[in-house]
Amino acid sequence: MADNIETLGHEDIYPINKDGKEQTRAFLMKVVEILLEYIDEENDRKSKILDFKMPEELEQILDLDIPQKGLPLGQLLKDCRSTLKWQVKTGHPHYFNQLSSGLDILSLAGEWLTSAANTNMFTYEIAPVFILMENVVLKEMRKFLGFVHGDSILAPGGSLANMYALMGARHKMFPNYKKLGLKALPQLVMYTSIDSHYSAMGAAASCGLGTDNVIQIDVDEIGRMRVDKLEEAVLATKARGQVPFFVNCTCGTTVVGAFDPIIPIAELCQKYGIWLHIDAAWGGGVLLSKKHRRLMEGVERANSVTWNPHKLMGTHLQCSSIHFKQDGILLGCNQMCAEYLFQQDKHYDVSFDTGDKVPQCGRRNDIFKLWLMWRGKGNEGFEQHIDHLFAMSDYLVQRMKEMPEKFHLIQEPEMVNVLFWYIPERLRDQPDTKERNAELGRITAQLKARMMTTGSLMITYQPLRHLPNFFRNIVSNAAVKKEDIDFLLAELDRLGHDL
Ligand SMILES: *Cc1c(COP(=O)(O)O)cnc(C)c1O
Repeated sequence: MADNIETLGHEDIYPINKDGKEQTRAFLMKVVEILLEYIDEENDRKSKILDFKMPEELEQILDLDIPQKGLPLGQLLKDCRSTLKWQVKTGHPHYFNQLSSGLDILSLAGEWLTSAANTNMFTYEIAPVFILMENVVLKEMRKFLGFVHGDSILAPGGSLANMYALMGARHKMFPNYKKLGLKALPQLVMYTSIDSHYSAMGAAASCGLGTDNVIQIDVDEIGRMRVDKLEEAVLATKARGQVPFFVNCTCGTTVVGAFDPIIPIAELCQKYGIWLHIDAAWGGGVLLSKKHRRLMEGVERANSVTWNPHKLMGTHLQCSSIHFKQDGILLGCNQMCAEYLFQQDKHYDVSFDTGDKVPQCGRRNDIFKLWLMWRGKGNEGFEQHIDHLFAMSDYLVQRMKEMPEKFHLIQEPEMVNVLFWYIPERLRDQPDTKERNAELGRITAQLKARMMTTGSLMITYQPLRHLPNFFRNIVSNAAVKKEDIDFLLAELDRLGHDL
């Protein structure tokens, strides 16, 4: 009876048609078919990552208009298909462009179920299973951080997780701020490395410090915060009569993948009574590997840590967490006791109503996909995942070193960020001068344009400090094998040799 599904409309399926069981199933089965085809194509190494069109061309191709009268389900199925057709395939094994990539099937299954359950994470009343799950997973994450007690919550992105840390630190040191606002604060100063994520600045801009009171600390030759410069800056703050307040220590910087040295920074924070926050949005996943967790040695000394499972761990967007060593800070800082949501006389333990720990009201369920993935992989599976990503990056570096005439490695990586220039034929016998490197920077942008129009490979690029544009290759997709790294190198050469 549901074989005419294409001609039916939204009123023929649930929830409007209470007898629409068959039609609803028929429609959803077709959607699932589209999704499965997409997954096949994404994992087919011969398929393209994207079919690039300029925005004005894509506007012509797509019909995105909102109609007055609803369209038939057949049209919606076509819309679903074309949406995926023109989308960049971020799980393709030749997509090395971002810190978040890959298409983990368990995580995907989790997202589907999450969407079907469609609940809000503010109270146990409406999300009993998910709240318990969040407690278990966050406790497991704190175990990897070495936090014996503490408190955590999932946040809408690492940038906001960093902001939650700043707010928590401010509440701990100046609890009157909640009531009195800015007049409760002396001039607070934050320290972060020049290579740290821009959200540290953003948090200072929003939380009453001001961007002028973010001191950007120099980094060493491989991008780690210089602790001698940090101490100088702290002393200068004190000499000005201001309050050294918050150090943002990055573990896994966004461009370079450098790890600021936690232990000496923790010593310094202890000496001057400064809150130590670790932004491990990118690097946090290394904690799951016995081999690589030494990069974050001393993490248990932090007061707070940001960690994004949606990056190195490959969980689907969005999945970000913030952890505090001390329990009670989040609630103290953010609790507003809305009487329509967080009634204190409920018939269960209201400490399970976690929604009042954050300034958000509604909170998306980002936990189920991570929990399901972790159940499926176990700690061992995650450890292998992390070790595999490092091994693939290492293979890339070794191969590049075998071809120094074509690939100029900018530095030895600490993590899976591999920074390099591709050298086209005409520049191969030229000395390593400023002029040549400026030319390599221009070539980098041209080569990226060729990648995009060919659709076979995606690697991002950026300038950094004194360096002109260079490529930053990221392996964060479990699908990447040695053959994909070999392809990457050959394809760069094929697309770029004559530039
Ligand atoms: C990605 C990143 C962030 C921001 O995380 P979002 O989830 O994109 O908001 C913060 N810090 C570092 C070091 C990052 O790499």
